[in-house]
Amino acid sequence: MAYAVPKPTDYSKEALEKAFTECVAACLTDAAAVHCDAELKAFRDRWMARKSGILTQVNELWLKGAPKEAKGLAGFWVNALKARITEIIDGAHVSGDDSAGAAESVDITLPGVRRPIGAEHPVMRTMHEIVGVFQKLGYSVAEGPVVETDYYNFEALNFPPNHPARDTQDTLFIAGQQSKPQRERLLLRTHTSPVQIRTMEKMRPPIRIVIPGTVHRNDPPDASHSPMFHQIEGLAVDTSITFGDLKGTLDHAMKALFGSSVKTHFRPSFFPFTEPSAELYVTCFICGGSGRRGPDDAPCRPCKQTGWIEVLGCGMVDPNVFEFVKDNGYDPKKVSGFAFGMGVDRLALLKYGVDDLQYFFQGDVRFLQQFG
Ligand SMILES: [Zn+2]
Repeated sequence: MAYAVPKPTDYSKEALEKAFTECVAACLTDAAAVHCDAELKAFRDRWMARKSGILTQVNELWLKGAPKEAKGLAGFWVNALKARITEIIDGAHVSGDDSAGAAESVDITLPGVRRPIGAEHPVMRTMHEIVGVFQKLGYSVAEGPVVETDYYNFEALNFPPNHPARDTQDTLFIAGQQSKPQRERLLLRTHTSPVQIRTMEKMRPPIRIVIPGTVHRNDPPDASHSPMFHQIEGLAVDTSITFGDLKGTLDHAMKALFGSSVKTHFRPSFFPFTEPSAELYVTCFICGGSGRRGPDDAPCRPCKQTGWIEVLGCGMVDPNVFEFVKDNGYDPKKVSGFAFGMGVDRLALLKYGVDDLQYFFQGDVRFLQQFG
């Protein structure tokens, strides 16, 4: 006998539960009686049709017809019923249909399905190459949170309180933190340097680490900027580390990355957390340092015809930075160290001759396939 939706006279929990059970039982009976595709369709329509399906009737009679004070409870049972009925209908199939075996047999003469193997993203590949060079020198890999506090991102790295990097123009802050003291306010880290402090808090010297990771700045995306990009930093701390160690290490790393013929060149620079600081240039690995390339002697764009490309920033760790971790064995009078940091995306652009940074992050398979 076909099921008819009863109009409840009693909206108590017991009465609603009984109506729910009866309705589910009716639906199950209905589902079991489906023997062909036409019946399956009719079954679905009978229960789910928008205009006059049983679920719509339930909604009308149980919920809309309920007195105000019973609406909450009725709503609960109506929702439970909808979920259960949908489940039954989704699972319903034509019963007795066991003849599918023959149709599903496999034709072994057909060619197989070729599934393309993925490849490392060019940015990740560059990152792993750089990390690999330093791992061979005995460095270990350290990582840290992308959402950082002002303390780790700026204060402990010797950024003065009014440094422009602390402005919302440059840094993406997490909203709604005005009530917190400045050093506890959360932001998206603007460099991987906070991990240097975090590592020095956990490990006593000597340390040698590289820190790969994503960083964020408030830059609108264009051919050479992105609000999200990648950095690798390195830190070595020990007794009697000198600028000569810094030069030797980086010179070796650049030759390992760009070929043994590249020359390195340091120019004075400034960073809040190193003193002295330098920018490292390598001879252009595209034109070989001549500033011109190709058979027609065209000007080399990546190095702007200078023959040199800036690769990273580096320097000796400022003793003020060690003061923040002094209690863990980093007495600035006893230890010294160097740090360096580079933008991975820019190096990947140069390395693969890509002229727009956005290609790396748009996920266009046609672009990425070239690196497969
Ligand atoms: Zn060049």
